[in-house]
Amino acid sequence: MSLHHEVIIVGAGFGGLGAAIEFRRLGIDDIAILEREDDLGGTWHVNHYPGLAVDIASVTYSYSFEPNPYWSRLFAPGPELKRYATHIADKYDLKRHMEFGTAVAGAEWDDSRQRWTVRTADGTERTCRYLVTATGFLSQPHIPDFPGVDTFTGSILHTAAWDDSADLTGKRVAIIGTGATAVQLIPEAARVAKHLTVFQRTPIWVVPKVDFAIPKPVQRLFARVPLAQRAARLVNTSLLEMLMVFGVLHFRQARLGNMAAAMLAKMHLRAQVPDASLRRALTPDYDFGCKRPTFSNSYFPAFVRDNVTLETSGIGHLDTGAIVVGDGRRTEIDTLILATGFDLWDSNFPAFPVVGRDGVELGQWWRTERFQAYQGITVPRFPNLLSLNSPYSYSGLSYFTTIEGQMTHIGRLFEELRRRGASTFEVTEQANADFLGEVTDNLASSVFYRGNCASSRSYYFNHQGEAALLRPNSTLTTLRKMGNFPLDAYAYRNAPTV
Ligand code: NAP
Repeated sequence: MSLHHEVIIVGAGFGGLGAAIEFRRLGIDDIAILEREDDLGGTWHVNHYPGLAVDIASVTYSYSFEPNPYWSRLFAPGPELKRYATHIADKYDLKRHMEFGTAVAGAEWDDSRQRWTVRTADGTERTCRYLVTATGFLSQPHIPDFPGVDTFTGSILHTAAWDDSADLTGKRVAIIGTGATAVQLIPEAARVAKHLTVFQRTPIWVVPKVDFAIPKPVQRLFARVPLAQRAARLVNTSLLEMLMVFGVLHFRQARLGNMAAAMLAKMHLRAQVPDASLRRALTPDYDFGCKRPTFSNSYFPAFVRDNVTLETSGIGHLDTGAIVVGDGRRTEIDTLILATGFDLWDSNFPAFPVVGRDGVELGQWWRTERFQAYQGITVPRFPNLLSLNSPYSYSGLSYFTTIEGQMTHIGRLFEELRRRGASTFEVTEQANADFLGEVTDNLASSVFYRGNCASSRSYYFNHQGEAALLRPNSTLTTLRKMGNFPLDAYAYRNAPTV
């Protein structure tokens, strides 16, 4: 097995698959895809908790160039996404590039040879001309360090490390967290648990979910007339763009629209929860869009069940068989489920140490110089690095819009490299600074800075209080800019001949 490759991609989720498809389109076949898990699919391989489904309708949450006519529902269940990832890998013959169980521990740029050295957890070193990090935004589980957790004798599950043999039937269960994951899991757990206590720190905005099984004749229509599915995608994507992107980014101009979305969520809650004090406890006091809203018809009704309690007091500590809240009240439990999300800013930016030119370490640089990346993909002093999960890279609409824009960017950049007969690229300080200035200006009208987000505890914000995750552009603008960036935004060099 060769330990040098033209391209190393870290991560075999939809980002890594998309990048590999683009490199293959460019005629580059010497690709290694290193994946720490034992199979491909990223999020959709790792997550398999009960109730898992997409929360962006499947006609939109998929590659536009690979529509799947056979989604069983408008919001497909998680296992269908995993099957879709496998189908993509098979169709584009990507599996032969993949090495599973291979966790990357670090990468360093060698400027004299103009190549990356990539070290894996077992100490092996590989080299490559181009390094692509596709490690996801939500891939390092956040496990809070509750006092007394070591003394707890029941079982503890994080949603991103679900044990399929875990049976909640007849158990006293606690779920900590009320993010998008918990919104899916809570109704499932409520159905079977003897008693479920939900520990909520911050309520979430939940809007109605228009979901239904896609009838077989419609699936056949989508298969026979792809234009029909494209039209469905266009309609859904446009609606989502209004709700998730326009209303959030243009809060200053579209405040009424934002308030209408919050009103819709409140009416949804009112229709499903008769008790006023319970409704108050479930109502966010921050603006819609400060943190990612979610869609569900079964979340609120779960709290109306006799076997479900909403606990809003802060968690004090755990002891052998209970969670004890601040005022000393105990909730006896058998199973504790942590739906506590992911360490986005602490351990995902980047997911492992990446050392560029002049010994600069990416994570440290981001933390001292502000989080930034040109068009959310390249960074000055990190030649030949394509960092897919960078600040300002996420399109807000769907991860697939993000990756397709990045594929376009990679295509344009590599065609230019080829035209110049060059092999090394590096974004210029000026282009990067201009882009950072542009996103900073654009964000000034967003709900993040114009709205009331103080109490939202949103993972969109980093520790410096900057909302540095979403790219503040409409989806169309993002896609256009990814395909038309000025070619002199990059400096190009030839590799040494020795
Ligand atoms: P999340 O949104 O970060 O939610 C984590 C929850 O845990 C929050 O309610 C948080 O409360 C709570 N929490 C964390 N630490 C805590 C502590 N020490 N004490 C008490 N509560 C604590 O994570 P997530 O629900 O896993 O969702 C993450 C993202 O994954 C979503 O926004 C969405 O983008 C994605 N997702 C997508 C799908 C899909 O179908 N496509 C499904 C699920 C998730 P605070 O809010 O107070 O911090």
